[in-house]
Parts: sequence; structure tokens; C-alpha cells
Amino acid sequence: MKSLCYNRRRMSSIWEHRLRRAEELQQAWPFAREILQFLRAVTSFQQDIYRRVRSTPVLKRNRLDTALLASYFPPLLALVERYGPRDLWTQAQRLRDRTESDWERIIRAYWNRSGSEGDLTVPFFPKAILQPYTIYRAELWRAELGAWGEQTNVCPFCARAPGVSLLRGEPQGRILACSLCATEWDFPSTVCPSCKEARLEKRPQYGSRDIPWIRIEGCDSCRIYLKSIDVRRNPAAEAAVDEIGSTPLDVIARDRKYTKLESNLVGV
Ligand SMILES: [Zn+2]
Ligand SMILES: [Zn+2]
Repeated sequence: MKSLCYNRRRMSSIWEHRLRRAEELQQAWPFAREILQFLRAVTSFQQDIYRRVRSTPVLKRNRLDTALLASYFPPLLALVERYGPRDLWTQAQRLRDRTESDWERIIRAYWNRSGSEGDLTVPFFPKAILQPYTIYRAELWRAELGAWGEQTNVCPFCARAPGVSLLRGEPQGRILACSLCATEWDFPSTVCPSCKEARLEKRPQYGSRDIPWIRIEGCDSCRIYLKSIDVRRNPAAEAAVDEIGSTPLDVIARDRKYTKLESNLVGV
């Protein structure tokens, strides 16, 4: 079966949507106020990178310009020092002492997934910088293709794991959204996106009465979980923002000894 692209809007508007939603949830979810404040700052920062990449000539855009991207390290470090959680603040202090070529190496290592991202415990820094670049590249790719080969459990563009599962009432029912480039693709709702377990009794779901549109999709075969956002129940939901803000559900999953399939931007 061919897999289809489900991204509903142009990515240029993804940033406004995320900013609006983070502000909304900051009011509604006191438990996530600080992390959402931080997310708003990071989203504005990423929007600037996206605009810069979009205005770069095509030939230059098609190669990874690590020097350009590394130039975003100083403002990102300043942002983390002002709004970031404690563990990222500590990492920002360490990264301040590095050279520009170290920052370029960190970006390239994250891009190549070579696992030497400068002893970062959370790959927040290269991911925050590379995400808008990858989102733009994926947007061009989808515009050309629209559909691709077999359904897979990893992103058909960048091969990263999904960060969240979405229910939008499409015929297939379930969509996975890439944790890096935000590409969305359909995947059977009964199958674990990590180990492909399909037995229903091995796929428990957990929720919280206070956040009825988001559930934990667990897998008792591989002990992995990811969050499932039912957009039919809450059309205002924004995948990345609702995923990061709904921290009580991560506590439920961790208490039950599940590990997240792919950490979100802030490392949870
Ligand atoms: Zn992707
Ligand atoms: Zn599994």
C-alpha cells in the first residue's frame, strides 16, 4: 500500500500555530507553564532559522551549511540560559567554551547520527537548530512527491522515529508525525511503531481524565510508548506542543516502566 502525506498546512504557518497553542496551554496547564514558556522562546528562534533557510538560494540550500547553522549557537545558548530548564542550562555552560568548529561538528554528528554529539546528554542544541532546516527540506520533498513507497515505522523523509501519533478520522485512522521534520504519514493503528507488535492485548492505552484527547499508547512487547493525540476530540491541538506540555502522561508511562520511543525536543 502506498503511503500518503497528511500534512494539512504549509509549514510556514506551523510556527504561528505552535506559538499560539503554547500560549493557550500555558494558561490552561499550570503544571507545564515553565516548559511551555521555554518552548515559545525556542519556537520563535526556530522560526527565524526557517525564514533564513527559505530565503537561501536553492543550490546552497541543498547542502548542509554547518557554518550558517553553527552561527545560531550563541543566541540559542543565551535563550537557554534565560528560559531553559536546569539540565539544559548546565549543558549551555559547557557549550559556551567550545569553538565554532566544535559547534559545526555537533550539528554534523546529529545530522549523520554518528553518536558523537559532544557528550550532550540531551541532543537539544543541534536538534533545535536543525529542526527548522529539516522541516523546510521535507516540505520541498513532499511537494515534489506527495506519496511514497511502502508504509514504514520511521519517517519516509529523514528516517527518524515518530514523535507522536495522531487520530484525525482519516480512512486509515492513524497518522505518525516525525520527531524531527514534522512529516506525517499513515500507519496501521493496531501496530506498534517500534517493534510492529500487532496483538491488541499487548497494546494497552492509558490516559488522564484532565487531558482526554491525549493517551499513552504502550507496547508490552518492547516496553516503548508514544503519545496519541485525538484531534477529533480537540481540533485546537498542535502535535509538538501538546506532546511536550502533557507532562502528567509521561509520569504515568514512566511509572508503568515504559520508555518513550523518541524523546521530544526538550528531552522528555
Ligand atoms: Zn522526518
Ligand atoms: Zn512494541
